Amino acid sequence: MKYIGAHVSAAGGVENAPLNANKIGATAFGLFTRNQRQWNPKPLTKENIINFKKNCERFGYGPGQILPHDSYLINLGHPVKENLQKSRDAFLDEMKRCELLGIDRLNFHPGSHLNQVSEEECLGTIAESINITLDHTKGVTAVIENTAGQGTNLGYQFEQIKYIIEQVEDKDRVGVCIDTCHAYTAGYDLKDLQGFNDVFTEFERIIGFGYVKGMHLNDSKKVLGSRVDRHHSIGKGELGLDLFSNIMNDSRFDNIPLILETPDDALWKDEIRQLKEMAK
Ligand SMILES: [Zn+2]
Ligand SMILES: [Zn+2]
Repeated sequence: MKYIGAHVSAAGGVENAPLNANKIGATAFGLFTRNQRQWNPKPLTKENIINFKKNCERFGYGPGQILPHDSYLINLGHPVKENLQKSRDAFLDEMKRCELLGIDRLNFHPGSHLNQVSEEECLGTIAESINITLDHTKGVTAVIENTAGQGTNLGYQFEQIKYIIEQVEDKDRVGVCIDTCHAYTAGYDLKDLQGFNDVFTEFERIIGFGYVKGMHLNDSKKVLGSRVDRHHSIGKGELGLDLFSNIMNDSRFDNIPLILETPDDALWKDEIRQLKEMAK
């Protein structure tokens, strides 16, 4: 089964996200469970939690169909101690929110070295951040998203993600989300079928499909290997439609949330319908 949706708005309360997802015909959705640009957002209320669960049940969204994204402020590999602690506290809060909402996974960008420490040291700090968080939470998987490698962001090579996972103690609660735009601009040429097969054979060899807990479906405004992160609507960017058809017809991407983070939300309904039609 393919679960397809978009990163929808949770404005006015998390309980609105499943309603917004249902309106566009989504069978999965992404959301922010807190204001993504604030360090100290309001805690979830009992009502938020009850209504979120009620709306998810009503529209058929199980835990495996929901992929929240953490705040963009968080850097789990921050080289400065105080800032690292701030990020770890915020990340723990995000994981706790998932626990409360009955969501079983949380997607995050691994972290940035800010040119102050080596890549290896930063990856080690990220793994330590994950270990600390998992020690204080239950039932929620920390899902590492591959990045475009913009600026000093790590996680743009499968080897870097593997390096983090190797140092995570509880391997059952660490996962990976593959963002198609990020992979492409990081230099993975998955555009045509041959490239698609090669890239995912490499992924299986280095990381393994057992870790895949979600996917972000985005076309790209920027070219292969540009290391610039600019999403485009499906079929309108550098990637084109073939890649998405290949994903829709590949059982390795079954039963995980497949989430659009494409820029034009007016197109989401059509994009979802188009993707569903590709999956035959
Ligand atoms: Zn993404
Ligand atoms: Zn992106």
